[in-house]
This record gives sequence, structure tokens and C-alpha cells, in this order.
Amino acid sequence: MNCEILNVGTELLLGDILNTNAQFLSQELAKLGIGVQYVNTVGDNKDRLKRSITNALEHSDMVITTGGLGPTADDITKEVCSEVFGLELELHQESLENMKAYFNRFNHPMPLTNEKQAYIPKGAIVFKNKFGTAPGCVIEKDKKLIIMLPGPPRELVPMFNDHVNPFLQKFSNSIIVSHRVRTFGIGESALAEKVSNLLDNSNPTVAPYAKDGEALLRVTAKAETKEEAEKMITPIIDNLYSQFGSLIYGVDYENIEQKLVELLAQKNMTISIAESCTGGYTSKRITDISGASGVFECGIISYSNRIKNQVLNVSEDILKKYSAISGPVAVEMAKGALNLSGASIAIGITGIAGPNSDETGSPVGLSFIALTDGKSAWVKKLEIGRNGQRDYNRYVTGSHAFNMARMYLEGQIDELGLERIDF
Ligand code: ATP
Repeated sequence: MNCEILNVGTELLLGDILNTNAQFLSQELAKLGIGVQYVNTVGDNKDRLKRSITNALEHSDMVITTGGLGPTADDITKEVCSEVFGLELELHQESLENMKAYFNRFNHPMPLTNEKQAYIPKGAIVFKNKFGTAPGCVIEKDKKLIIMLPGPPRELVPMFNDHVNPFLQKFSNSIIVSHRVRTFGIGESALAEKVSNLLDNSNPTVAPYAKDGEALLRVTAKAETKEEAEKMITPIIDNLYSQFGSLIYGVDYENIEQKLVELLAQKNMTISIAESCTGGYTSKRITDISGASGVFECGIISYSNRIKNQVLNVSEDILKKYSAISGPVAVEMAKGALNLSGASIAIGITGIAGPNSDETGSPVGLSFIALTDGKSAWVKKLEIGRNGQRDYNRYVTGSHAFNMARMYLEGQIDELGLERIDF
């Protein structure tokens, strides 16, 4: 079975919203072994929508639409799909009752306009919407399917998981399992070169990707059962671990901060961060992870030299002698955060995110990161050098800091070949 995803909504074409439904559905359909051949976006226009659906049905067994199931006049997906299949819309009493109950929960009478949403193509299988008013549905004709789903992701995702996924499983005779092997400290092309012998594999496949300044390998297997697919993937991942060792920080982590928070929790340790050029971004990323409160003591944004001195106790002499963007200042910042917070380890970050340089002419993207446990400090000089990419520079600087902390906690920080100062 193959499929086209058709995202309906003028706001998508205007760039007002990001098409996260396409990403979600593509990922889920791949797991089901259903090949997505096309992803198309069309505005709320009857003629173009009709043409898009007709075209999609010519080359795909199934079309999944998202959006346009709302109560207003420009929500026309159900109407157009019914017309394409020559079906009438009829009142679906159960959906009407569900909608009334939905409004009752908020003590609102249901507006009359919403009744339109309870009209469903004749013969459709209806998918209940737990988090909104528009039910989803599927219609079938001449072995072709159209599945209609609501636009808001908070409605679409649970509807897909609860109803559409089980419905689609009967069309899939294989399942696809994918794992992401996440690395830090090796570029995508170097990684690809080292695994070139695996890149031509057809099942499991191994594919390198670059993401947010990191490289990852996606290992994907297709088999009849999940267990079989996992069995095919395990030796490949074992092999990658023996080849790349500590360059791999984990499998299926969302990001390196997630790994760091997990390691700190496992070791019953805490961390603090003093940051300058990253402006709180590094601390924010840690606190994005659920469970951060158990491991994160504090983040201090010490942007000015005065605060570096008064709050973190970085001496004026050091600031003058080495300038704010220097290894010694990063070490003093880390020590200051450690002393202030009593955390097990602390990070100090100072640098230039850009787009402009500082008064000493330090290059944009230059930063110094220090990690200390109170006994020693490790210092990294990082030159990302992406002029005009302030956010990227800040993000990658933070990732290096997390990687240093991760390597410290795994007892491997000396492998990074950093300058080490023992107090
Ligand atoms: P509603 O009942 O809310 O009108 P609907 O099914 O008619 O639902 P749309 O009106 O097309 O859906 O979209 C409603 C909202 O859902 C959009 O404003 C947007 O915030 C979100 N949305 C729609 N399509 C997508 C998409 N492809 N990816 C991410 N979000 C989307």
C-alpha cells in the first residue's frame, strides 16, 4: 500500500504555520511499512482541492488529508472528498452527540454552525475526536481510500494513534523499525566515510544525517514483526558502538541534554551553569528536559564583566589580563557557579555569538567552555565561526558544554584532549 499526504490549509501555503502534521504522518506511516510517495499542500480552494485529490488518487492507493474539517465555510475537505467519490453527506448522530458533550464540558451550548461537522460521507468509518469537535473519517471506493483528519496537531495525533493506526495495520504486511544512533564530535561526512561499507545495505539500511551541529546514523529494518526487525538492527548498533566508542552518546535520545540529565540523575549529581554569550540558552535547554529539577542547581547569565566579577568572583585582574573571552575567565566563571551553588560540577561559557565582534576583535563564533568539579577544570576553545548565525553559534556552544559534562560523568573527559588544570 502506498499513500499521499495532502495537507489542506491556506495558512500552510502562506508560511503562517509549520507543517508538522506531514512530518508526524510520514514518520508513523513509515513505521507501518506504508510508503509515502508524495506530500502535497493545497489551500482552502474548492477547485484546486478537488484536482489535488483526483490527482493523488490516480497514483496512490490512499490519500490522507489533514485540515479543513472545521465548522466554517472555508472548511471544505469532507465536501470535496465526498464529491470525488460521489457520496452524499449525512448526519452522523453519534458525532453530533459527542460534539454536544464536548461543548457541555465547557458549559457552552453548541453553536449551530458546528452541526456541519457531524455531516459525514455516507458509508464512512468515523474516527472520534477526543480533543476537538471535528470527527475524522475514512471512505473507500474501487480499492482507493481517503482518510480525513483534523488540522490541529493536538487533535490529529491522538486520533491517529487511537484509531487510524489500528485501522491501517491490516493493510501492512511488514513493519519498519528505526533507531537513531546519536554521536557528538564527528562530522556527517567523516561518519559516512567510516560506515561506507554499511551505506549500501538494503535491509537494514544505515543512513547518516546532520542535525543541529551533530551527526547521527539512522538504522532501519523492515520485517514481519517488531521483534524480527529489532533482531536485525541489534548487531549493526553493536558494531557501531565498537567502531565509534564514546563518540556515540546514545540511541534514540532527542538531544545531548537529555542524555546529560539522565546521567546526572543516575549518578545522583547536580550541575550549575554560568553563561555569557549563550544568554541563558544552555540553562534553558537543560530545563526543557523533564527531571531537570532533580539535577540542575542554577543558571547564571553573567553578561557584563561587572556581574562576572561581583556575582561569580571572576577577578578584575584576570578579566583585564586575558579579556572576557578567554579560557581563564571561563574557568573562573565555572568555579564561581560551583561555589555559589554547591553543585557537583559546573560549566562556564564565554564567547562571541555574533553577528558583531567585541572591542578586542575576537572572531564571531569563538567561545571558551570550562567544566569544573572543584578539583580540576577542563577548557575547550571552540571556533564555530558562523557569522550571522547567532542562534546556531549559541546552540552548538551549549552542545559542546553538555558533551564535556557527559564525557566527565562517563569518566572519559580526558579522551577529549582538552587543556586540563588541576587546582
Ligand atoms: P478547526 O476545527 O480547528 O477549524 P480543521 O480541521 O478545519 O480544524 P484547519 O482549520 O485547517 O483544521 O486548521 C486549524 C489549525 O490547525 C491551524 O490554524 C493550525 O494551527 C493547525 N494546523 C492545520 N494544519 C496543520 C499542519 N499541516 N501542520 C500543523 N498544524 C496544522
